[in-house]
Amino acid sequence: MQTIQGKSVFGGIAIGKLSLHQKGKNVIKRLRVEDAAAQVQRFEAARAAALGQLAQLYETAKQEVGEANAAIFEIHQMMLNDPDYCESITNIIQTQNVNAEYAVGTTADNFAQMFSAMDDAYMQGRAADVKDISDRLLSILSGADGGAVELTEPSIVAAGDLAPSETVQLDKSMVLGFVTELGSANSHTAILARTMNIPAIILAAGITNPSFDGQLCIIDGFRGVVYVDPDEKTLADCRRRQEEEAQRQKLLESLKGQDNVTLDGQHIHIYANIGDVKDTGAALQYDAGGIGLMRSEFLYLEQRDYPDEELQFHAYRTVAQNMAGKRVIIRTLDIGADKQADYFHLPHEENPALGCRAIRLCLTRPELFKTQLRALYRASAYGKIAIMFPMITSVGEVLEIKKLIHAVQTELKAQDIPFRDDVELGVMIETPASVLVSDRLAKEVDFFSVGTNDLTQYTLAIDRQNQSLERFYDPHHPAVLRMIGMAAENAHREGKWIGICGELGADPALTETFLAMGIDELSVSPACILRLREKVRSTNVAAVREQALKLLK
Ligand code: PEP
Ligand code: MG
Repeated sequence: MQTIQGKSVFGGIAIGKLSLHQKGKNVIKRLRVEDAAAQVQRFEAARAAALGQLAQLYETAKQEVGEANAAIFEIHQMMLNDPDYCESITNIIQTQNVNAEYAVGTTADNFAQMFSAMDDAYMQGRAADVKDISDRLLSILSGADGGAVELTEPSIVAAGDLAPSETVQLDKSMVLGFVTELGSANSHTAILARTMNIPAIILAAGITNPSFDGQLCIIDGFRGVVYVDPDEKTLADCRRRQEEEAQRQKLLESLKGQDNVTLDGQHIHIYANIGDVKDTGAALQYDAGGIGLMRSEFLYLEQRDYPDEELQFHAYRTVAQNMAGKRVIIRTLDIGADKQADYFHLPHEENPALGCRAIRLCLTRPELFKTQLRALYRASAYGKIAIMFPMITSVGEVLEIKKLIHAVQTELKAQDIPFRDDVELGVMIETPASVLVSDRLAKEVDFFSVGTNDLTQYTLAIDRQNQSLERFYDPHHPAVLRMIGMAAENAHREGKWIGICGELGADPALTETFLAMGIDELSVSPACILRLREKVRSTNVAAVREQALKLLK
């Protein structure tokens, strides 16, 4: 049995076969080259990049999961600096006039064979490591991006990292859980794991060891531990805890159909965050009062080309119909930063989180935006759709959006296509600018929804994707909580309602604070709804108000 300590992004225990998703596992071709020196340079550049990656992985893992668990990345750095390994690669390039990939692949095979043939068990284990460092070099050399993860049976997916576009394409009926070597708890991959209600662990050093592929594995999402080839006792213990968790869930079931009301009579809506039409099943199963955030960009990430109006219309209509008259808030396209689809051909940006993303992209490409707005308004005839806009920073943007909406409504009327003309419009409060002008924004829209993931990122100036900064990424920072409080006051002053759809909405440590602020709605992953209801129903807001608001001080 091998035990790897990582960091949990979603609780739960999964037991199943590990399926290793290796990016850029291309067949290595032997190519004759004219300029061997250029190939040596390519190898050296890839080696430098790999060493950089490993140094960062080591630092992050050391902070997050301790020195002993991080040591593997130090060993890999040492191996990449090993003179025999490097010399073998340069010699093959220079003596055979071949490409760097071939030289790396051949050296990896030779060294792995040599290690495997040794008597010492420790040295035998190095065979997997030499393959691992060589794979890292090969994926850098090929500039490889991952292909789709193909699964033929329910499995635990292990990977170096998973991009949101890969995660969203996972066949959810086949994924028992996932575990990655990289990643950040605030990334969209982590958010998807919570939405999909599957146990997930990040920063699991060494999980991409090729010998783990196909082995029985346990993910303990409560403790952030992965067991590969578990012993009988561990297996029995995890099965028992899995059963206990199922029992706890059953107890929560009794809260279905109950009101989200505090002991002193304050009501709050609890809605579901979804990424996909299919997630409405989970939203209903966990008794969501509505959909508080449909991340419509996942519809775009699942496609190879722009989804047309019909495809989008069917998706939005299905969600509206499934939710049968409950409010369904669909967020318009929030692509950019970590959510990338090739066909958008977004230019390379030095700071994509501060770049042409979300509403900025939509206002820059009004035809793309109008296609989505047409689909949304057409779907509005089939349920209670509300529309909200991401990354707003000014009233001017809202006015520009309203003009486009007016144009779309005029077109639909002229074509005799039905739509509702009382569709609620809201903005996401996820930039400090939007908070500071929330008094004015509140006059223009029907509601606010606070995106605490980005609000934390932009308020604290911390990249939410940067795993080495996780210890500084503090959504409980008084600056973030004051921002939420300020937006709430401004919304209420104009008689508008305010919700929270970022991950913080599900944080039970803040439920009392949000209730004390008068937040009207919390939108969370479907699996978190009943636990949150339990928390609300056991809170007496009047009794805890003063204490709860101290967090803002
Ligand atoms: C947020 O930023 O909090 C949010 C809900 O949107 P996303 O996580 O998709 O950026
Ligand atoms: Mg956001």
